[in-house]
Amino acid sequence: MLLDRIEMMLPFARRQKRQDALLVLNIDRFKTLNDARGHATGDLLLQAVALRIKEVLREGDLLARMGGDEFAILVPELASRSDDAMLRMLHIAEHVHDSLHIPFAVDGETIRLGASMGIALFPQNADDSQIDILRRANTALHQAKTQGGGRTAFFESAMDEAAKQRFQVERELRTAIPNGELRVFLQPQVDAQGNMVAAEALVRWQHPQRGLLAPGVFIPIAEESDLIVDLDDWMLAEVCRLLARDMFAGRQFRIAVNVSPRQFRKAGFAEGVLARLRNSGAEASHLTLEVTEGLMLQDVNSVIATMSGLSNSGIHFSVDDFGTGYSSLAYLKRLPLNELKIDKTFVQDAPSDPDDAALVEGMLSLAKHLHLSVVAEGVETQAQADFLNAHGTVIHQGYLFGKPEPAETILAKLK
Ligand code: C2E
Ligand code: CA
Ligand code: CA
Repeated sequence: MLLDRIEMMLPFARRQKRQDALLVLNIDRFKTLNDARGHATGDLLLQAVALRIKEVLREGDLLARMGGDEFAILVPELASRSDDAMLRMLHIAEHVHDSLHIPFAVDGETIRLGASMGIALFPQNADDSQIDILRRANTALHQAKTQGGGRTAFFESAMDEAAKQRFQVERELRTAIPNGELRVFLQPQVDAQGNMVAAEALVRWQHPQRGLLAPGVFIPIAEESDLIVDLDDWMLAEVCRLLARDMFAGRQFRIAVNVSPRQFRKAGFAEGVLARLRNSGAEASHLTLEVTEGLMLQDVNSVIATMSGLSNSGIHFSVDDFGTGYSSLAYLKRLPLNELKIDKTFVQDAPSDPDDAALVEGMLSLAKHLHLSVVAEGVETQAQADFLNAHGTVIHQGYLFGKPEPAETILAKLK
């Protein structure tokens, strides 16, 4: 049945470009146990193990007994990316490990078990058969056993190139911050007359081998762990250092820093920001923090509390990529916000697409009612700038007025 099911799943997985997984599990030292306590106890134990594993699984997962003390778990529709699929499978494997560690009471005795697991993600190749997949999972299981039991291993080349690269980026990024490989770039924000009134700080990574990397390559990876907290904190400290320069004293100018939800939710975030400002000598009235709509989805009261403290000190808050997330208009009203940033997808199509035009007009009037200023992102053409200026008071950020460049280059222009 297991093999049949895999055979059935393969064409769907290929067509829907999704990853499924087969996990094979072998109880460590079961033979010793079986010999010592007798086969009747062994049988009861296997039944108990099956029930424990079943509790961990979702509906739609298939649990099979392969023979002896070997089980298999078939998990469909894990994820579309193999690295996400690996992560999900690691969690499932951990749950199974945990559930087997709880002592079994069999025949009046208490028995503790450990297990080894091997995982194969599929489909991997266009012509994979169910037997190939089973063999890969068993290869991984063998590897887990030789590492000493109690472990989980993936079939190696299940890590496709993209997944390998992600793991490598994560490893290298950990040392990039202490090694001083990150750079602050600034992109000008200009008013309708073309005067630079603010700038957004955008990170770049000067990679020793791969050259200057855009954040799209590493921010999403950093956001999966606390790496993003270190990165954002580094950026905040750098921007505070810039803002402490004499050229900003008495000048109305802000630099906006991106704050990822994970950083925002870290305990002590507000205190950390205020400490960065204090230690650098920069003024809060020169700093804007960009947050995303997603932040408002969870625990809005504590979000409001954190934001209010910072807002009272003079820091501005801007909602980044506005229109692409799940904004609750009710929350928008309750938060101490100063600015909306209209996402570039709306801005870029507004002059040509009536739907986007209507959305931009709607956002502009919403902002006006809520007394928020507006930054339009991704302004690339004069037609886009003209459209925006015709419909409201808008700050422009886009290639038409300036690309992100090293901080020193932009500050020299500002001077
Ligand atoms: P974002 O916050 O939406 O930043 C704006 C992005 O749009 C930047 O890409 C900028 O270069 C790009 N852009 C600006 N004007 C134009 C234009 O006219 N046309 C087009 N096509 N694009 C334009 P970048 O620098 O690659 O940054 C990508 C994203 O990475 C940012 O999107 C932000 O979400 C994230 N990011 C960058 N730096 C940091 C950081 O220090 N911390 C965190 N948490 N995220 C960051
Ligand atoms: Ca931003
Ligand atoms: Ca944005």
